[in-house]
Order: sequence, then C-alpha cells, then structure tokens
Amino acid sequence: MKSDIEIAREAKKRPIAEIAAKLGMGPRDFLPYGHDKAKITHEFIAGLKNRKQGRLVLVTAINPTPAGEGKTTTTVGLGDALNRIGRRATICIREASLGPNFGMKGGAAGGGMAQIVPMEEMNLHFTGDFHAITSAHNLLAAMIDNHIHWGNALRIDPRRVTWRRVLDMNDRALRETVIGLGGPANGHSRESGFDITVASEVMAILCLASDLHDLQERLGRIVIGQTFDKTPVTAKDVGADGAMTVLLRDALQPNLVQTLEHNPALVHGGPFANIAHGCNSVMATRTALALSDYVVTEAGFGADLGAQKFLDIKCRLSGLVPDAVVLVATVRALKMNGGVARADLGAENVAALRDGCANLGRHIQNLRQYGLPVVVAINHFTSDTEAEIEAVRTYCAQHDTQAILCRHWAEGGAGAEDLARAVAHHAEAGQHSFAPLYPDDMTLWEKIETICKRIYRADHVEASPAVHDKLAEWQAAGHGHMPVCMAKTQYSFSADPHLRGAPTGFTIPLREVRLSAGAGFVVAICGEIMTMPGLPREPAALRIGLDEQGRIEGLF
Ligand code: ADP
Ligand code: MG
Repeated sequence: MKSDIEIAREAKKRPIAEIAAKLGMGPRDFLPYGHDKAKITHEFIAGLKNRKQGRLVLVTAINPTPAGEGKTTTTVGLGDALNRIGRRATICIREASLGPNFGMKGGAAGGGMAQIVPMEEMNLHFTGDFHAITSAHNLLAAMIDNHIHWGNALRIDPRRVTWRRVLDMNDRALRETVIGLGGPANGHSRESGFDITVASEVMAILCLASDLHDLQERLGRIVIGQTFDKTPVTAKDVGADGAMTVLLRDALQPNLVQTLEHNPALVHGGPFANIAHGCNSVMATRTALALSDYVVTEAGFGADLGAQKFLDIKCRLSGLVPDAVVLVATVRALKMNGGVARADLGAENVAALRDGCANLGRHIQNLRQYGLPVVVAINHFTSDTEAEIEAVRTYCAQHDTQAILCRHWAEGGAGAEDLARAVAHHAEAGQHSFAPLYPDDMTLWEKIETICKRIYRADHVEASPAVHDKLAEWQAAGHGHMPVCMAKTQYSFSADPHLRGAPTGFTIPLREVRLSAGAGFVVAICGEIMTMPGLPREPAALRIGLDEQGRIEGLF
C-alpha cells in the first residue's frame, strides 16, 4: 500500500465550488482559498439559524497506545460510507498543529484511502487560522507589557501575569524566559514563557464561540493575571478584546475541503486535548449540521478524556446533542492494553487481547452513562487474525454491543458501509436520551470527583489545601457553574500512563487548577502536562524537504 502522502498527492480533487454546491452554497457563500480550500462566510452562516439540524455522530476510541487506533481515519471512512449508503454526511475534524508535524506525530488528515485533501496544506499553514490565533494571543501579551510600561494604571502585578506568549512550533528552549531585559526603554523585566499555539486559551475560545459577538465577549473575559491587591485583571480591562476579535474575524469562518471521495469536510480549530477540550469548532459543527443529514466528528485521545470533554464541555456549552457514538478499537491496541509489548504485536495472542478488552468494556459502560447508543468499530490492520477479530466480536456481544469490522483504511468508504448502516440504524431509531455526566449546579470539586469516580473509576481524588482554596474562591466569584476540563495522561484511566487495561484501586492526584474564564471552564491538572512540547532526538524535520518537481517529501 502507498504512503498517506502518495495517496493524497494522486487524489483527483474536485474544484471547491463543486463541494460547496453539494452543501447548497452558491458562489457568494464561500471564500475560495486557492482551488481546493474555502472558508464559509459569516453572512451565510448567520442565515442558517432556523434550519433543520442533521444527526451528530461522535467518533472516539479506547485509550491510545503507540500501536495506533485510527480515530481520524475512521471519522473520514464513516463519513464517506454514510454518503455511499445515501445519507448526506459532512465530516468535522480539527486542524493540525505545525509543531508536532516536524517532531514525531502522524498527520491529522486521516490515513490510507480515508483521508482529507489537500493533506499537505491541511498539515501546514492551511488557511492561516493558527497564525491568526498566534497573533491575537500575542497582541494581548504585548498590550499587557505595554500597559505596565506606560504607567500601569490598572496596577497589574508584573509577578502575577499568567498570560504567556505562543508560537506554533515545538521549542523547549522557550518554555521559561525572561522578557524586558535591556533597560527602561524595553519595559519592565519579568519572567514569562511560551506555549504552543494550540494550548492558547484563544484557541479554545475560537472553538467554543457561537459567533463574532460571542467571540469578543469570551476574549474579554480572559483573566491575564492579578493586580497588586490580587484582583483578577481581564483582557477587556487591558482593552485588547476588540482588536483581538478583528485579528480572528476570518479565522472564525470554518474551512471547507474534501475527502478522497469528494465529500465535504469542515476542518476548523484545534485545541489541545489536555488543557483544553480537544474538539473542532462549534461554528463548524453547527454549520455542518444545518447543511447535512449527518455530521461525523471526532474528539482527541481516548473516550475517558476526549468523549467526556466533548459531551460535558462542547455539547453542554453549545447545546449540541449527539445521536450515536462510535468507539474505535484495533486488535493491536487491545493487545497492548492486555500487556503485549510493541515489538510482539505481529504475533497472534488471543489471551492478551481478551485481557485488553477490559479497557474497551469500561469505555462502553462509560458512554452508556450518557444515554447514548455505542457501536464498536474494529479498524482492521493487515496483521489481524480471524481468531483475534472473533474474540473482539464475542467480547462486545457479551456486553450487548455490536462490533463491526471496518476496512476503510484499505478500501475507503466502501470498507465502512456496515459501520455506516449500524450507525444510521441507531441514530435514526432515536432511542437515545443524552444527559451530561453532572449538572451545572454541582460544585467544582464535586464535578472533579464525579469524573474521577464515574469515568476513571478512581477510589479517591487527592488535592492540596491550596487547590481547594482556589476552587472555593472561583466558586464564590461566580464561576461555579462552569464545567471542568480534565488534564490527565491519555494512556490510562488512572494518572499513571503505565497502568493500561482497566485499572482499579487507585487515587487521582489533583495537582493544580487553572481558570479559563474566556473559554468557560476550569482546568483540573492531574500529573505533569506540557504546554510547549520539544522536538525528539531525530525530528521528522530532518526528512522533510522538496523533491526535484517541487513536491513535499517526508511529511508522514
Ligand atoms: P488518531 O486520529 O486516532 O490519532 P489516525 O486516524 O490519525 O489516528 O491514524 C494514525 C495513523 O495510523 C495514520 O498514519 C494512519 O494512516 C494509520 N492507520 C490508521 N488506520 C490504519 C489501518 N487500519 N491500517 C494501517 N494504518 C492505519
Ligand atoms: Mg486524530
């Protein structure tokens, strides 16, 4: 089989106007960015308010392993398959961060015959959204230091400025910096640092905003630090919200591209799945729902983090209601969850696979707590054996869940038609009764405990008095209604990345809490989290270059 980039390069793409026409858009409803990308205009989106909404399908997965699960690949394959069985489906996924592309991550556009194109652009600068977010974020940073420089009327305590700068690159040397060196003309020197753009609160805000007005309100609510009397200072206090909104006006318009099978895909936003909620934008999902019978979307990491945040943050804050969930599993990843080392994945091992199925089983139970129908998609790898596939099917049948073997990576949409039929059956039966995990009026601490106990199955949550004090302070300041955004290792239900499968008898250590008042959630950090990644010893950048015809080589 050819590599992802070879397949993508050979794709016969249709002009973007043709894809837009499939969604009922005329030439004035979208802004072309070249031949095969476009943004959907704010004016067109504003006119969709009273349209009938399509059905929403979430694709999530078991806990990730280095063996690979294929959530994006399955999201694309399922979207193509739904179109093949006569449902007009649109795919909604996240944009790629530039940083990891030059490090070690795979692409963000799916894989094999289930991809979104143009994949090179999608994985590189695309339509410039991340550059706009970087600029808006750094404008606020510059305005804060400028305010302090010119007399500091707000009495911002330079030691308590929490707003850092961002860059869309993996650059560990910038994690901790000192700024303002060089004397009075260069401002006040203070410690600061850089995060990667996708970790910016501006990214999370762009992805949750319902329109330009809401975007500006949320930007204004960002807390950038404290005064000398420890009162919070916001972006609005600094006067940055208007200019930031201007920088983000175009970026808030969802991007339209196509799959290898010429079906519409909206690729928009890309918040970190740890300190943010890890889903594409509300604007894109809503727009797609107004224009299609089905919208297939994905959430980052495994269902304990990705689906939980999709359901309790994105759906809660936007009013979206999913109709069905697809839980992606692979034989390889299940074997790793059952204790098999990566080097031994090629050999059949039904016993380990059965042990690993405990991970799958817990995710199925968790998703059912939300009142949603769940279908398991077995993303087929060529190394899978009949006996292994049968063992997954048997396990799922014992748990009253349909498991469907899918070959979209090798065959495109045709390989996922069974999955599409099962999803359509559940979604159209309308038997779901979606409810988020916890009510808005629960306290912040109770929300954290509820997630840790009912989703992770922890016995206890442990936190220092300082953490409890902060939560109580935000509760008193009127932020208690917010949902909680968990930041935890994606590799385990627990906070220990080595505990695969379905661990029990553990405690979740809650180390730190942060307020994202603009995005509208409180971040609960369990374990170490990295907001500025570094490059590995042998970064992918060493292999990336142009060939003699000027084509990009080495990108995946
Ligand atoms: P996720 O969204 O879960 O991170 P992706 O869908 O992006 O995963 O897939 C990660 C990588 O695995 C991609 O390079 C893709 O081509 C590859 N992949 C996905 N499914 C398969 C499969 N069935 N067989 C072989 N490779 C696959
Ligand atoms: Mg993905």
